[in-house]
Amino acid sequence: MSENYEDVVIGLETHIQLSNLKTKFFCGCDSNYYGKEPNSHVCPGCLGFPGILPLTNKKAIEFATRLALALDCKINKLLYFFRKQYYYPDMARNFQLTLYNKLGGNAFADGGSVPIKINGIKKNIELNRIHLEEDPARLVHKGSITTSPYTLVDYNRSGIALIEIVTDPVITSPEEAREYLNQLKSIIQYTGISDLNIEGTCRVDANISIKGSARVEVKNINSFKEVERALKWEIQRHRHSIKRGKTIIQETRGWDEKRRITIQMRKKEFEEDYRYFPEQDLPKIEIDDNFIENVKKEMPEMPMARSRRLQEIYNLSEFDADNLVLDKTIADFYEEGIKIDPKFDREDYKLYCNWLMNNVARWLNENNKEIRDTKLQPGQIVDLIKSIKEGKITTKIAKTYIDEMMNGTPISTIIKKSGKIRIADEKFLEDICRKVIQENPKIVEDCRKNPKAKMAFVGKIMKETKGQADPGLTNEILNKVLKEFI
Ligand SMILES: [Zn+2]
Repeated sequence: MSENYEDVVIGLETHIQLSNLKTKFFCGCDSNYYGKEPNSHVCPGCLGFPGILPLTNKKAIEFATRLALALDCKINKLLYFFRKQYYYPDMARNFQLTLYNKLGGNAFADGGSVPIKINGIKKNIELNRIHLEEDPARLVHKGSITTSPYTLVDYNRSGIALIEIVTDPVITSPEEAREYLNQLKSIIQYTGISDLNIEGTCRVDANISIKGSARVEVKNINSFKEVERALKWEIQRHRHSIKRGKTIIQETRGWDEKRRITIQMRKKEFEEDYRYFPEQDLPKIEIDDNFIENVKKEMPEMPMARSRRLQEIYNLSEFDADNLVLDKTIADFYEEGIKIDPKFDREDYKLYCNWLMNNVARWLNENNKEIRDTKLQPGQIVDLIKSIKEGKITTKIAKTYIDEMMNGTPISTIIKKSGKIRIADEKFLEDICRKVIQENPKIVEDCRKNPKAKMAFVGKIMKETKGQADPGLTNEILNKVLKEFI
């Protein structure tokens, strides 16, 4: 039974590391710390030693501009950094350098939206703002945060540039949240500012409330996949509490991925607790139209524009094109593949898309792999479609090739090895039809009442021929032979 979420309001704050930057936000440390020895990518600056002046990474401003343009936000032309002050072991300087949209400061950009589609219904998830800040260090616990005997601090992450994307409280279900994040992930992938396949590059904080009750923040959901799960759990918790007459208190909770529950972290702190203070060591940043124009000129094609182009050039449906462009690597693969054979026509464009989105995407999903991690070549799908069209193999047989295809084996080799070729020998197929009809008088009886019952014979013929019988021809011959019996 699908749950009713009519009274639920969700807002998401998504933190994305600008992992494609070479250095950290305010120092020259190498930002590629993923999988590296702890505390090996540090300098006195990102370790918080006194007397070290920060210097803003210009490329981070360019990346943020790229994302703001992609999300259709209004970029603020004058920016100041602030110190968000709090004491916590992950914060080397006891403050975090961040943009702040109060006290005379601005967010990096305001407004914007992310278009989503659920069950064919389109909706725009309105954004409140996007802004920039630095990442704190990483706290590592042994096992669960609640039972770990100690906390390790890894400052490799300290000072990595983060972009925060804040929605308005307009998301109305966990499914909508998941779809929003899928679309956002796709847009970020196309902008090239971050590689979200690297573990730790994204974190989501969710604000959840049930109408009439206080808002609870669930912090540090470490993957997009976990967000839907965390939201569902938290909504259930609210419902149970309300049912038992308890009051939901405004608080910050954490998502325990292992136990799949939220746990209380602290009572909600308020903004004034942070004593935001303008950073005196960093000059203001002025973004002029010229800078924005230059970034715009270099902007890669975004998924929505690409979907429209694929619909126009290759006659794909909106549904197919939208699905295809969601993952840039898949869409790149598609465009590379269909250009291989100049004889490809409209029907082939669709067939190629179907193969990629059904069989290949399913395999990738089941094996938890990206297309770039496999040896599949765009030309293999071209050869596969040709072999089906030339009648060498049936679609059913072709589907059994998927494992070998993903290992890069050429189609001709797979066909030779499997010995499975399409059976189109009319005499042979007629004999099999006759055999299965004679062996199954009950199905013949059914066919007299309901012509659709003949599908049972098709199934039996396919079983006899190990899926190699040509489906069109089999149907034709079956109809002919069946007439003699009914
Ligand atoms: Zn550093």
